[in-house]
Amino acid sequence: MTSESPAPLIDPFGRAVQYLRVSVTDRCDLRCVYCMAEDMSFLPKADVLTLEEIDRLCSAFVKLGTRKLRLTGGEPLVRRDVMQLIRALGRHIASGDLDELTLTTNGTMLFKHAAGLYEAGVRRINVSMDTLDPHKFQAITRWGKLDKILGGIQAAKDAGLKIKINCVALKGVNDDEIHRMVAWCGEQGFDLTFIEVMPMGDVGEGARLDQYWPLTQLRAELETRWTLDESDHRTGGPARYVRVRETGQRVGFITPLTHNFCESCNRVRLTCTGTLYMCLGQEDAADLRTPLRMSDEDGPLIDAVRDAITRKPKGHDFLIDRQHQGPAVPRHMSVTGG
Ligand code: SAM
Ligand code: SF4
Repeated sequence: MTSESPAPLIDPFGRAVQYLRVSVTDRCDLRCVYCMAEDMSFLPKADVLTLEEIDRLCSAFVKLGTRKLRLTGGEPLVRRDVMQLIRALGRHIASGDLDELTLTTNGTMLFKHAAGLYEAGVRRINVSMDTLDPHKFQAITRWGKLDKILGGIQAAKDAGLKIKINCVALKGVNDDEIHRMVAWCGEQGFDLTFIEVMPMGDVGEGARLDQYWPLTQLRAELETRWTLDESDHRTGGPARYVRVRETGQRVGFITPLTHNFCESCNRVRLTCTGTLYMCLGQEDAADLRTPLRMSDEDGPLIDAVRDAITRKPKGHDFLIDRQHQGPAVPRHMSVTGG
């Protein structure tokens, strides 16, 4: 770092904030039952930051020491011209100012964009796929076609992208498939992360208690078939990993409800309207769109970011039990992108 570099972002608990997740759109071409209601109303386009504004915001964070940028959504690859943004952000990879540019995607558009992602400097991506059964896939996503996702995943593999599969553990839905998922990811050479359902947003059908499957139970089930060796691998995200001896691939667990991961939290989340959430599970947020649009200079924006980081809370308070079946926070996961 040169003597002219601005001071890095350190929160009140001494955690360096070096990871920015950006929801580039709240829209999506699927409607996963745990994520969205079927009849979602989306933001008016006028409220959404332009691609140039998102670039400016991300670049300000890079200036302030962000080393990892993850684009998410909604579905990031359905935003019009999103590849322009991804190519532009790739300059920070080329310059060495950023260690990683990545995205979380549902995979529907990978068949089209996989090669372009690699060219832009993306090296690994997370693809969300909760089942290998086409009927279940359609039921979970309300209308998705599994074939298209599998084709997209193959295209990403062919393009040289490293793939991690995200799988939300859903009681009574995909609990009978976890061994198959581990075996398939092993054959494909993919890591796999299981995610506990988080109580975010009103999804309109069924109580959360019906979907919630603690990963402690899932892990115990895995151990009946696979040898799980502890691993200290960390990706800068919240997952804890084990290595499956029989396949050689990693399996991660994101357990916000049974295991609090806040103490090592190094990330903040930006919505497509320029609102910065300092914690996935808390309501406090900072408006960055106003300082961004106030001036062509980055001064007001950087002041607003620094002020926001002083308010980063120690942790979240997610809880699902019989008394707490409603959302802990009213916004949907698609607003902040998970
Ligand atoms: N559309 C992209 C996708 O599905 O990968 C990116 C956005 S999506 C909101 C990011 C991740 O959040 C996905 O892996 C999805 O399964 C997960 N997710 C969504 N709602 C969730 C919830 N209520 N609890 C846990 N994970 C959730
Ligand atoms: Fe769309 Fe991703 Fe939410 Fe599914 S999880 S509805 S793909 S944003």
